[in-house]
Amino acid sequence: MREYDIVVIGAATAGSFFAKLMAERGFNVLVIDALPEREIGKRLTVFHLDTVYFEKTGIPRLADGDSEYITSFEYTMCESAYGHYPRKTLYPFTVFNLEKFNKHLHLWSRNFGVNYEFNTEFQEFIFDEEKKIVGVKIKNEEGIEEDISCRLVVDCSGIKGTVRCALPDDYGIENTPLSPRDMFYVILRYVKLANPIKDKPVTSTAYPYYKTWVAPSDDPEGAIFGIGANLSYEYAERVYKDFENTIHLPEIVGEPRIEKGTTPYRHAIYSLVSDGFLCIGDSAAITKPYSGEGVTASWNLCMIAADIVANAMKDGKYPTKNALWPINVKYSRTQGANFAEIMATLIGAVDATKEENEYEFKKSIVFDEAVMTQMNYAFANKMTIRQMLYLVNQIIDARANGSIRKSTISNIIKSLLKAQALKRHYKAFPKNSKKFAKWCNKADELWKDAGSMADLIEKSIQE
Ligand SMILES: Cc1cc2nc3c(=O)[nH]c(=O)nc-3n(C[C@H](O)[C@H](O)[C@H](O)COP(=O)(O)OP(=O)(O)OC[C@H]3O[C@@H](n4cnc5c(N)ncnc54)[C@H](O)[C@@H]3O)c2cc1C
Repeated sequence: MREYDIVVIGAATAGSFFAKLMAERGFNVLVIDALPEREIGKRLTVFHLDTVYFEKTGIPRLADGDSEYITSFEYTMCESAYGHYPRKTLYPFTVFNLEKFNKHLHLWSRNFGVNYEFNTEFQEFIFDEEKKIVGVKIKNEEGIEEDISCRLVVDCSGIKGTVRCALPDDYGIENTPLSPRDMFYVILRYVKLANPIKDKPVTSTAYPYYKTWVAPSDDPEGAIFGIGANLSYEYAERVYKDFENTIHLPEIVGEPRIEKGTTPYRHAIYSLVSDGFLCIGDSAAITKPYSGEGVTASWNLCMIAADIVANAMKDGKYPTKNALWPINVKYSRTQGANFAEIMATLIGAVDATKEENEYEFKKSIVFDEAVMTQMNYAFANKMTIRQMLYLVNQIIDARANGSIRKSTISNIIKSLLKAQALKRHYKAFPKNSKKFAKWCNKADELWKDAGSMADLIEKSIQE
């Protein structure tokens, strides 16, 4: 039987980066992917990454002249529901072709000793007599099955979570697929501009009221008109119509080319680890709650996990659930707590009318340039006391002059309080697994109380 220290399932952004971190720490790592190499990442053409992450992760920076590079911008824009109050976020993004970028990651991580096998599918786990994971059964492109022995299996298999969902019920990991209500439905329209010289976007402009954006595409004469919505593609199309009818979009020629996909939109699975097992990426539902972007959010988890895994596997040790548990603690108390706070806050903000959204932009309530820039850098709500007092003042004013309904203000305040309760709870994630069941029960209660975007949208449709 072939033997590796670590087998990673999924050779996309999460799997390749984590594999590199472990190979660099001296482990023998195999990454398998069900797809041929040229197909990985092909589901999407144009992709954005926070530029600062090239430095944070050490991944060689993409620049003009690299085949995968499309463009980059130093800031992004955010617009109100009627498009009258542009706000700038000073946070750079790099735009590139995802399929080529995955190949770039494979080349880079191979230099550190990572082994890749493509057209190779995970079939099932292999357990020892104590029912602990000790390997995986895989099937290659010729349909030949093979048992591989390893001490750690890392699930980076994407939104379907096929690997974690193959775990037995008593393994301590959530093993059900994400529900369709826990996803963000993204539709990208690649359009050809009628007047590219005048209309070609130089940065990405988001319209949070509709969750739409206009951004550069790989076509120098084109653009992307994108939308992401909770609930369903049908609902996304309905909101897109309203967007098109309200905002003056650049004139286009011909029919747009459409790309569609889903990204997780819910809290991460509560425990990411068990005996000989770790879950990262979309499979663990690690995405930024304010944009649905998952790559850099997962890279943060990879960086948290790498040294803990290395320590748990030092000198040939088997990585037990207890030895890997600090990954749960560190993740939940940092990015997990920040994402919980932001997601619960946003749930309260969706109920505003277009007019209210317009006023919120005008008065920089919620959509404040400094707050948004800070949030992008920290992946967290970093409002200072001064900014908080300003916000409260503006809300009181808005209520007094009737610009925002009482129910909208009450929703915002309630969601802020629920968000704080969730953040406190994540910050108190148990140091060991003994109190975990109790922590999960309380977390379930708090999330139920916070509600979900899909439920709110459905309610508003029915009304
Ligand atoms: C339309 C759209 C646009 C997006 N744009 C952005 C963006 O601009 N920036 C951003 O950060 N995020 C974006 N996202 C989110 C982002 O795509 C994901 O968060 C990210 O790609 C997840 O990476 P991953 O490595 O976890 O999983 P994936 O990229 O889904 O990779 C999983 C891999 O596992 C393999 N696999 C699955 N099952 C098996 C199996 N049984 N055996 C072997 N291999 C298997 C798959 O073939 C696949 O290659 C977007 C999402 C959508 C839908």
